[in-house]
Amino acid sequence: MPGFALDPQQTAWCAHLRALAAQRLRPVAERGEPGRVNRPLLALLGELGLLDKLFTSGALELCLLRESLAHGCTEAETALALQGLGAHPVLRAGTDAQRARWLPQVRAGRAVAAFALSEPDAGSDAGALALRAEPDGAGWRLTGEKCWISNAPEADFYSVFARTGEAPGSRGITAFLVPADRAGLTGRPLRMLSPHAIGALTFDGVRVGPADVLGAPGRGFAVAMDTLNLFRPSVGAFAVGMAQAALEATVRHTAGRGAFGGVLADLQSVAHRVAEMATRVEAARLLVYAAAGAYDEGAPDVPRRAAMAKLLATETAQYVVDHAVQLHGARALERGHLLEHLYREVRAPRIYEGASEVQRAVIAKDLYRTLDRTDADPHGTDADPHGKDGHRDGKDRHVDRKDGQGDRKDGRLDLADARLDKEPVR
Ligand SMILES: Cc1cc2nc3c(=O)[nH]c(=O)nc-3n(C[C@H](O)[C@H](O)[C@H](O)COP(=O)(O)OP(=O)(O)OC[C@H]3O[C@@H](n4cnc5c(N)ncnc54)[C@H](O)[C@@H]3O)c2cc1C
Repeated sequence: MPGFALDPQQTAWCAHLRALAAQRLRPVAERGEPGRVNRPLLALLGELGLLDKLFTSGALELCLLRESLAHGCTEAETALALQGLGAHPVLRAGTDAQRARWLPQVRAGRAVAAFALSEPDAGSDAGALALRAEPDGAGWRLTGEKCWISNAPEADFYSVFARTGEAPGSRGITAFLVPADRAGLTGRPLRMLSPHAIGALTFDGVRVGPADVLGAPGRGFAVAMDTLNLFRPSVGAFAVGMAQAALEATVRHTAGRGAFGGVLADLQSVAHRVAEMATRVEAARLLVYAAAGAYDEGAPDVPRRAAMAKLLATETAQYVVDHAVQLHGARALERGHLLEHLYREVRAPRIYEGASEVQRAVIAKDLYRTLDRTDADPHGTDADPHGKDGHRDGKDRHVDRKDGQGDRKDGRLDLADARLDKEPVR
């Protein structure tokens, strides 16, 4: 992406999407019920051809779509993103029959999709999931629970991740496409701060057969990670769209709100705070575009870049929305105010699809992964005049770590130690 700038067509498309969000989608979103799937909104997203884009876009286009919709209508953005999250495993790993049955309905906004990975005891550590798939004739029976599943319990089908084998951790997990009407599958809504539908699912011996498998048995974790790798930078784009909306509202408000014989923007501390918000939003946006561009180019460092983009953008959005609330004063906290809405929306993306701490773990793991022992600088000597080849006394030394794991026999420094290797991937 030359110069990290959008080309004129991309810029025009974003403006078109922002207008659609504000003028066509927002009124339908407002008629929806908080905590429930808004089917008319999904149908309109289908009619406008926006759900199609989930299946035809690269990562950058997906980011532009999510950022632009979030700017004017977070409900539409989330409804669209969840269709993508739930249906991506079918698109990438489904059989022809599964794709033919479900994808046209998803694209039209007639079937509601959901991605069911998390469990009460397996969130960040998704490889610890315990939903059992016990052999039963040619297929399996699913028994256990899923928790905090967006669109549940109203979705029409679920991409479900279950343990088919004895293998520990991420091995032995299989992905299944489970239609919502299967006997033994029940759910209940959860009342959350986020305004969209989220629920818990109970599987009581739900029958699934070979035709319900997504991908290959035992390869389900790869299906889940393939989906999250694509969607992770675009969560950052969602955050950037919200932050931009909060920033614009703040510029308008502080320019007009009378205070102390002038307006708020005349106060230097206020104007500088708005400048800081704008700078951070721009930095986050560029990092998101760069990560998405790297994904589209098939660059080798996508996981690190995607993690950086999601981390910076979601943390930035929280900062910006919080400061926007502060600068609006009490009116921002009235029910129905844009910032009251954004304040509820902005919190969850720092937790789902990999909490901020998990993103830092991904970044750190990648930084240390390729470090050769000879490149390590155990005593900070890079900065001293004796250079990094030796200590002041010129003697070679082992790395002095408190855990005593400084040296490894294979000659590689064990900074990316066993604990880091076991860091969760989401
Ligand atoms: C609004 C919303 C929608 C969601 N939608 C879905 C969905 O559609 N499908 C789905 O499968 N799941 C969904 N989730 C669940 C989400 O993926 C999990 O909440 C997330 O993976 C974190 O898991 P947890 O909540 O169990 O937190 P835990 O894993 O218990 O972590 C709690 C906290 O511990 C810290 N922590 C965790 N790991 C580390 C680490 N390695 N290093 C340092 N600190 C760490 C972090 O601060 C983290 O926030 C949703 C969640 C929310 C809030």
